[in-house]
Amino acid sequence: VLLITMGIFWLLSILMSIWMSRLTMRPILKSWGRQTEFVGNAAHELRTPLTIIQNKLELLLTKPNDKIIDQAENIAIANSESQRLQKLTQDLLALARSDSNTLQTNFESTHVAAFLQRTVEPYTEIAASQGKRLELAPVTEFRATLDQNLIHQLMNILIDNALKYSPQGSTITLSAKVVGRKWQLIVADQGIGVNDADRKRIFDRFYRVDSSRSRQTGGNGLGLSIAHWIVNLHHGTITVKANQPQGSQFVTTLPLNPLTGLGGRHEKK
Ligand code: ADP
Repeated sequence: VLLITMGIFWLLSILMSIWMSRLTMRPILKSWGRQTEFVGNAAHELRTPLTIIQNKLELLLTKPNDKIIDQAENIAIANSESQRLQKLTQDLLALARSDSNTLQTNFESTHVAAFLQRTVEPYTEIAASQGKRLELAPVTEFRATLDQNLIHQLMNILIDNALKYSPQGSTITLSAKVVGRKWQLIVADQGIGVNDADRKRIFDRFYRVDSSRSRQTGGNGLGLSIAHWIVNLHHGTITVKANQPQGSQFVTTLPLNPLTGLGGRHEKK
């Protein structure tokens, strides 16, 4: 009986240790899987522009007597693909920093209305050059603690997308307001909108609703995942909903003071 009892205990302890090691290994395996997927996706995204640049350079090298107009076209394509590569590497670096938590943040008390005015101004000219309008709705004066560089980057991503996915003649409206102990930044456009099914997924790395359309407009599917990370650093949330009668509304909700953690919700991806 003693031997059988000892045997059962021994078996149970082995089963327990297997179960425990599965529990501890699971997050490691999961994060390793995510890392491998990320590297695979990044390599895939880097390969396309690199191949195009290589082809165009080979054409220039092998056919030096081609008409200058044909050569100029090849150079222009190689140039725009190298710009795409530059944007992609910048975005990949931002995400690498987000994964390693090495970013030095600089939270400061900010007059939001003046900050938004300064930030939006250059984009109104870009919008006008594309036959679109960018408007900042009047903002009541209030202060919020934020990292100005990061919120600038967030606005850049949201405005850039609103411009990319909206037709000529449409208007993009930015507004901001205080809601209790939080404030909201809303970027609304009259563009193609986002389906219910895609609403959650567009914040995932490399996710694009229509890859060829996104590629044509210079997208790489990383912008909104960087936006999500910036919002998380501020203990806020970002969601997308339908704009009426058409388009989408990206609603960012941030605590007035993320440093005290008041009203903030830290969302983990
Ligand atoms: P991308 O570089 O492809 O624009 P993002 O991560 O910024 O990558 O956005 C992911 C996807 O979300 C886009 O490919 C697009 O399908 C969709 N999207 C983002 N912003 C908008 C918008 N304002 N209107 C419609 N679709 C959008």
